Amino acid sequence: MKHYLMTIDGASVDSSEKFDVINPATEKAFATCALGNDESVNQAVAAARAAFPAWSALPDSDRQNLMHALGGVLEENMQELVELVSLETGKPVKGMNDIGATMELMGSIGWTHVTADLTLEEEVVKDDDSGKVVLLRKPLGVVASITPWNWPLLIAIWHIIAAMRTGNTVVIKPSENTPVATARFVELANTVLPKGVLNLVMGYGEVGAALTAHDDVNKIVFTGSTPTGKKIMSSASGNLKRLVLELGGNDAAIVLPDANPAELAPQIFGAAFHNNGQTCACLKRLYVHESIHDELCAELVKLAEGVELGEGQNESTDLGPLQNREQLKIVEDLAALAREQGGEFLTGGERLDRAGYFYKPTIVAGLSNGNSLVDLEQFGPILPVIKYSNVDEAVALANDNPNGLGGSVWSPDTKAAADIAARLECGTAWINSHGAVQPDVPFGGIKQSGVGVEFGRHGLEECTSLQALIVNK
Ligand code: NAD
Repeated sequence: MKHYLMTIDGASVDSSEKFDVINPATEKAFATCALGNDESVNQAVAAARAAFPAWSALPDSDRQNLMHALGGVLEENMQELVELVSLETGKPVKGMNDIGATMELMGSIGWTHVTADLTLEEEVVKDDDSGKVVLLRKPLGVVASITPWNWPLLIAIWHIIAAMRTGNTVVIKPSENTPVATARFVELANTVLPKGVLNLVMGYGEVGAALTAHDDVNKIVFTGSTPTGKKIMSSASGNLKRLVLELGGNDAAIVLPDANPAELAPQIFGAAFHNNGQTCACLKRLYVHESIHDELCAELVKLAEGVELGEGQNESTDLGPLQNREQLKIVEDLAALAREQGGEFLTGGERLDRAGYFYKPTIVAGLSNGNSLVDLEQFGPILPVIKYSNVDEAVALANDNPNGLGGSVWSPDTKAAADIAARLECGTAWINSHGAVQPDVPFGGIKQSGVGVEFGRHGLEECTSLQALIVNK
């Protein structure tokens, strides 16, 4: 079984302890990883701190070129990284609507190149006979990145490329469930980068917690659950670390009465079920006008029953297993509560009778706000479809949730839909689509879905502090 190492100060580092990485399609270990501890965190942060002065002083174009070189590293090693992502997450190499491990690599490559080309210009506030005022953007120092298991490599790229691009050095801790592709990428990246600029430690939550409490870390960029995000916020207060928290979502979609169910169903199904619903900005609550509710449900059931579940390495697999046993249990518990609370299971509602954390795509009608499957983030392949009778009621139900990541409105009348979408309490609102993100548009949650944004100029700004330079003539 292959054993993966940490990377600290440009070198591969083992540990006296290790942990297993499970293939969720077989429930068996396929790799082991070095298990980090406080000592590895201290060494990694010290290496990043030592590398910071030279890295931040490089001409911007040098860092830009190195980021493009990392895009090249991803391209050259694409096949190996696709296989690792597929094995550790369970997601198909290709997958339903091509949203699988290959897309995760393509996205990582695209994000790296686009972010390399973004720049933060100096802002001149005034320049006249009396003087000049310029706003400068300066790197923060050492950025700690902590990632989840659903899109492990892509989210790692989102965190680290923006941080390094703007002159920060990085220590990343990937999820203990999916550390392998990130560990391999960081090892490869260190053949290109100066030592100490990008370090990786591995382990469970306590290794993440040690990073969040470390006095020499200046910023934390975290993607994961809202409860962990709250712990990080409190732990980061010691030295007032900057924070970007991309947390849980419970995205609502509203389908207006003039929508065509047969036309929209495939897009709505893809938005809710790609990656088995294990995407922060998946469509998680579907509010449908009563005049088309039954027809749309019937179309979604047809699509759910046509899905091929299987191992990610099979060419024809649409969806793989859920990524881990705990997530499967969350889905099973929510299904049980939905049954108790009067949910009507139109299809699915059970595991596959085989090894692996497979769960059938499931559509549940007959519930509304106040029921657990609607109120809580399922992060799995079980979608509640909720009937509404007027649009104001639908908007109120959509906003009646502590999360505020994304939302969408579906209708051929895009003007009317946009007016309704603007009333949704969320960081991103889509019309006739849901969940797509892009490297030049800021993305982040409001309410309890997070703090700050990633991507685009606004995302780069979050990796910097602002200095006002005031020159009196
Ligand atoms: P999680 O919070 O359990 O774990 C995320 C990471 O935090 C892991 O690396 C884990 O080891 C680490 N961690 C755990 N305890 C910690 C602590 N006390 N201090 C520091 N680090 C700690 O989340 P998960 O289960 O891996 O991911 C699923 C969640 O992530 C879902 O809620 C999903 O909505 C959310 N998510 C959000 C976005 C977004 O952009 N908003 C994207 C993807 C996933």
